[in-house]
Amino acid sequence: MAERLLVVEDSKAIAKVIEQLGKALGFEVTVAYNLAEVESLLQGGASFFAATIDYALPDAPNGEAIECVLSHGIPGVVMTGKMDEKTRQKILSLPVVDYIPKENSQAFLYLKRILHWQLINSDNGVLVVDDSSAARNHVVELLKRRNFKVFSANDGVRALEVLEQHSNIKMVITDMEMPNMDGIELTNEIRKRYNRDKLAVIGISGAENGVHSARFIKNGADDFLRKPFCPEEFYCRVTQNIENLSNIAQIQRAANTDYLTDLPNRRAFIQFGQKKIPEYINAGTPYCLAMLDIDYFKKINDNYGHEAGDNVLKVVALYMRKHFSGAMLARLGGEEFAILMTGVDEDQLYGRLDDLRRDISVSVIPYEGEQISMTVSIGVVFNGKGALAAQMNEADQALYSAKENGRNQVSVSGQDD
Ligand code: GH3
Ligand code: MG
Ligand code: MG
Ligand code: MG
Repeated sequence: MAERLLVVEDSKAIAKVIEQLGKALGFEVTVAYNLAEVESLLQGGASFFAATIDYALPDAPNGEAIECVLSHGIPGVVMTGKMDEKTRQKILSLPVVDYIPKENSQAFLYLKRILHWQLINSDNGVLVVDDSSAARNHVVELLKRRNFKVFSANDGVRALEVLEQHSNIKMVITDMEMPNMDGIELTNEIRKRYNRDKLAVIGISGAENGVHSARFIKNGADDFLRKPFCPEEFYCRVTQNIENLSNIAQIQRAANTDYLTDLPNRRAFIQFGQKKIPEYINAGTPYCLAMLDIDYFKKINDNYGHEAGDNVLKVVALYMRKHFSGAMLARLGGEEFAILMTGVDEDQLYGRLDDLRRDISVSVIPYEGEQISMTVSIGVVFNGKGALAAQMNEADQALYSAKENGRNQVSVSGQDD
């Protein structure tokens, strides 16, 4: 179900812009043009995921709408035309998500970014480590406003335990001076266990001369904050580091995914297989490695066009997903796919592969008024003891036999003649 966004704004033109931006993010948007409308909405029991609040409204010229929205527990982003220091201080003293000067079109892009993060931050865990409960609670409160999933620990030893228990933690914000294990030691220990592309560390230090900040960075921290810091600086650092992690994750995903079928690609398959096959062998888990190739695929391209061919590749990927939901599937390249899966025994695994083959062979794909049918050949190795590369060769040999023997069949390595 869509989350609800409340837009408090007296200018119809600006309200329209924010409404469209909210809808683009998937929000269900309600606009209130003055404080009276906000009050009647909220008193009527309407609940909202977040609100954007214009600082000045005809019936609330001095930010009165902000307090009204916040008092109902709705996280609010303040949009302001005024930018004097007094207004800024007043807004910052309230527990708002952020405030945005409506100076130019950048303001709306920034708002979109803030609302986007507000939606996805609940999946992002942040661990706050500080022995002072007052300092810890302050940081926790700031993070909660941004909808992060927040964890806390009062020293480095406890922090490592919490990290171990919660794999969704993406960032650690740690104080320097703490009993048992201080912030620098903690950073050091974290870097022995977690890569920088998975977990960010921000050190907080109170020292005047900046010596701790340098030590934090040299011990593997990604960033630091010097006490006292203002909420704006804090949010900038946190957002930037979380965005970096998310960009890296996106690049890694792209590097491991086939663009056409969205299946893992050859590189991802090899990485996964090299890790998993020795585990299956050690545990005595029945498994198989299979190669699947579409029969006479060139003819499909020739008869119906390259785009139709692309469509067939996507459909084969869908059939594979439907039949083998827990398995590692990949498009190795062209019209060749791979399957690595565990099962009960050879017969059951063979049966599952043959079910897929049969299902595909009786399917027809409607494409621009035409009916495309196709078959696939599969070569499989059961419970291979060798390295992945050798097993892929064997499966390929078996696939070759399946082609030689007439296609549309599953051929088992070592049993082909
Ligand atoms: P066989 O039964 O022996 O496997 O015959 P085949 O025609 O399927 O095999 P062949 O290797 O001769 O031809 C594969 C064709 O797949 C040639 C190539 O143009 C086409 N192809 C490779 N990648 C893509 C793709 O991404 N999209 C489309 N539409 N075609 C592709
Ligand atoms: Mg106004
Ligand atoms: Mg082929
Ligand atoms: Mg081929």
